Amino acid sequence: MGKTTQHRLLLLLCLSGLAHYSAAMVFWTAVVEISYDNSNNVTVDKYCDCGVYGRNSLLEKASGIVMLPRGDPKGCGSDPVYNRNSSYPPWIALVKRGNCTFSEKINAAKRQGAAGVVVYNADGSGNSTTHMAHSEAFDIVAIMIGNSQGLQIVQLVGNGTDVQMLIDLGSPHGPLMDTYWIYFLSIAFFIVTAASITYFVFISANRLFSLNAHRRSERKLKSEAKKAIGRLQVRKLKTGDEETTSDSHMCAVCIESYKAGEVVTVLTCDHIFHKVCIEPWLLERRTCPMCKCDILKALGVDEETKESLSAESPPDVTVITAIGGQPMYEVPLTDPAGSDPERQQRHYDNGAFEVDSSAGRR
Ligand SMILES: [Zn+2]
Ligand SMILES: [Zn+2]
Repeated sequence: MGKTTQHRLLLLLCLSGLAHYSAAMVFWTAVVEISYDNSNNVTVDKYCDCGVYGRNSLLEKASGIVMLPRGDPKGCGSDPVYNRNSSYPPWIALVKRGNCTFSEKINAAKRQGAAGVVVYNADGSGNSTTHMAHSEAFDIVAIMIGNSQGLQIVQLVGNGTDVQMLIDLGSPHGPLMDTYWIYFLSIAFFIVTAASITYFVFISANRLFSLNAHRRSERKLKSEAKKAIGRLQVRKLKTGDEETTSDSHMCAVCIESYKAGEVVTVLTCDHIFHKVCIEPWLLERRTCPMCKCDILKALGVDEETKESLSAESPPDVTVITAIGGQPMYEVPLTDPAGSDPERQQRHYDNGAFEVDSSAGRR
């Protein structure tokens, strides 16, 4: 398994983990519809997708007449909290956030038979809502709405208006639907794409490089073959030549017998072929079609090429002269000073002789 594949698998695992985590964070909005008769006996219908189902709420519809707690609008404390003690006709408790836990408020209404509980947010929070956690209160529809929406209904109910409410599922929302996650996923996608593109560019460049190297070597071999072909013996067959009279002689490339006047090429292995037949063959294969003899080797053309290449770049060789196993001096072969006779005279393997020599020169 390639490294890139491993990285991709790891990224997929991370993404699936994130998707799993975010699935747990998905919440549903609630559509809240209220209807009541106003002072002119005209039925008013209001509707908004402004609620959020609690984490432990039933995800289903609920409807009924809106009821407020008897005393504390926050609906905490011991029973009875509401002026109702039956589930029929269906009713919905409308309570304010605060004083006790969501579970306590919801359970208080549930015990007295509410079909659903609507918690409106604390004062000063406008239309904002939160995703309520109420793990101890379940099997009932519980949603949260904004403070201002809640207060409007509280005012109507407080004035003695019968407000009918219908709660319905809106749409799912979650981390994967938020801008932050969209950015995160886009960046992750971009990184994976960029990594894949880089990988493929690298692979393609590598292949292109090998292909070019192969083409260069092919061109070189072809030019060597041309050189070798130029050195092969060429003959024009005459009437009476052995090749034209005997049926045992035929060109192995075109499988035709030789006729007088045709031009033939004699290879280094003494095999004969039509010049026009063998030259394209040798350019491609450089060997005799019959005995596989390599004409480049036989004519020494490949050796010449190697020699000419090595002559172009002489190796940087250092020669060490050692006397009695002790190295005395080092002179690179390519060092121009090495050819200086004065300098050479200064290096002797006997120190005493060197003194004599310099004395003699004086
Ligand atoms: Zn032929
Ligand atoms: Zn041959």
